[in-house]
Amino acid sequence: TDTLTGKVAFVTGGAQGIGAAISARLAEEGATVVVGDLNTGDPGTVALDVTDPASVAAAAKTTVERHGRVDILVNNAGISNDTPTLDHSDEEWHRIIGVNLTGAFFASREFGRHLESGGAIVNISSIAALLAGRPERHVAYDVSKAGIIALTRTLGVEWAPRGIRVNAVAPGYTDTPILRNVGSSAPEVLDEWRSQVPQSRLIDPDEIASVVTYLASPGASAITGQVVVADAGYTA
Ligand code: NAD
Repeated sequence: TDTLTGKVAFVTGGAQGIGAAISARLAEEGATVVVGDLNTGDPGTVALDVTDPASVAAAAKTTVERHGRVDILVNNAGISNDTPTLDHSDEEWHRIIGVNLTGAFFASREFGRHLESGGAIVNISSIAALLAGRPERHVAYDVSKAGIIALTRTLGVEWAPRGIRVNAVAPGYTDTPILRNVGSSAPEVLDEWRSQVPQSRLIDPDEIASVVTYLASPGASAITGQVVVADAGYTA
């Protein structure tokens, strides 16, 4: 513990689910954590729409003004869907790419201006980047999460000379609201998912948070431009 004492972290989409677990874990390790989310129900949360570059730039400015610095960015905000491609509207495509991929680009660019040597970005990809959704269908989601891997590699290399590391975590089926909103969230859908996972279970958000925290910590100093798959064996 306390590997992140003195560090300031910003987590996009940290109000619930995996982002909330990441925020809690980073704080346990000693980081000062700022949560940015569309949902500002919690008074400490900074209003953030990752699809709006002005909102992202303002959140970065607020973080640095309040805490003097920012060391860690977690690009976690994401949305999903379940739509066959022939029914997939233009609007739905742009919305999903806008949040999941363009949003991570905007945040990386705007927070990247403030990151110093020793800084780290952790992007949340998905096993959807590595294989097609089954039984659900979400082409824009799959493409957005594959794009996150390219973003991770490119920035990992581009910002290595600045001493900034950029990595991604690709979670498997993790027990959060997004998962329950995908598909019908019917018990039989969840059962089907579980049956396909070698460990026969959904992943707990804390298990993703511990990987993110590791990648953000000095212990991972040689790791950059990489993707860690945390999927209970699904893609093995
Ligand atoms: P979630 O729906 O529980 O939480 C997502 C959060 O992002 C919410 O708080 C939401 O308000 C916020 N958000 C949405 N749009 C935003 C925007 N435009 N600007 C700022 N915040 C916004 O989802 P989750 O399951 O915790 O997912 C977190 C991340 O993990 C996502 O990127 C998701 O794609 C990814 N992921 C989830 C799973 C899973 O099985 N749950 C698997 C692989 C990857």
